[in-house]
Amino acid sequence: MENRVVIVMLGPPGAGKGTQARMMSEKLKLPHISTGDMLREALKNETELGKKARTFMESGALVPDELVDEIVAERLAGEDCRGGAILDGYPRSIPQAQFLSALLEKDNTRIVTIGIEVGKQELIRRLSSRWTCPKCGKMFNANLDASVAGGKCDQCGTALVQRKDDTPEVIAERLEVYGRTTQPLVRYYQDQGTYTAIDGAREVDDIFKTIMTGIAG
Ligand code: AMP
Repeated sequence: MENRVVIVMLGPPGAGKGTQARMMSEKLKLPHISTGDMLREALKNETELGKKARTFMESGALVPDELVDEIVAERLAGEDCRGGAILDGYPRSIPQAQFLSALLEKDNTRIVTIGIEVGKQELIRRLSSRWTCPKCGKMFNANLDASVAGGKCDQCGTALVQRKDDTPEVIAERLEVYGRTTQPLVRYYQDQGTYTAIDGAREVDDIFKTIMTGIAG
């Protein structure tokens, strides 16, 4: 597993981590692992994990580290992650980052961190107009195209939905939690020399090009 690389997508909710992670996954042929998607799936299927995670997620709080650490460790041990993976929404706290570092050190895996930076007002604007395809996960912004509100996915035709935690109160809480618990990871990865900052207030394709250049360099 010498050339194994795990790319950590860091950034506040609404920064575009999911969109970029999906594009990178296709280009780099690495699995896209979104803890938010995995937890939402667990909620939908009413698994034990889903039952434990529900109240945290609905209020915008973080699910306890040990629950998330476990699902990520299990997922990264999958055969399709032999070459690495793209992590979207994990780690989100210093203890999670320490857990991941220890896990990957054992497997001789390199970590590359991409931090997508976007101002708070823009994040609120994006999250409150975000629509998602529940089938393929593609994200849409009603500010850019009014027809996506109540519309269908242009990729697979499924009716688009708004996330339950994209309400003004829950958005405010999620941004607060980000500042308090997740933002310190910027410093953590800067200290480890693995952090690349990306200006996320640009066109999706421009951001993608910058990320790919950063990874290649
Ligand atoms: P996301 O789709 O990444 O915005 O995640 C949605 C929600 O899932 C978050 O607000 C948290 O409640 C929970 N969640 C996702 N990833 C994590 C994580 N790494 N640690 C704790 N909670 C998480």
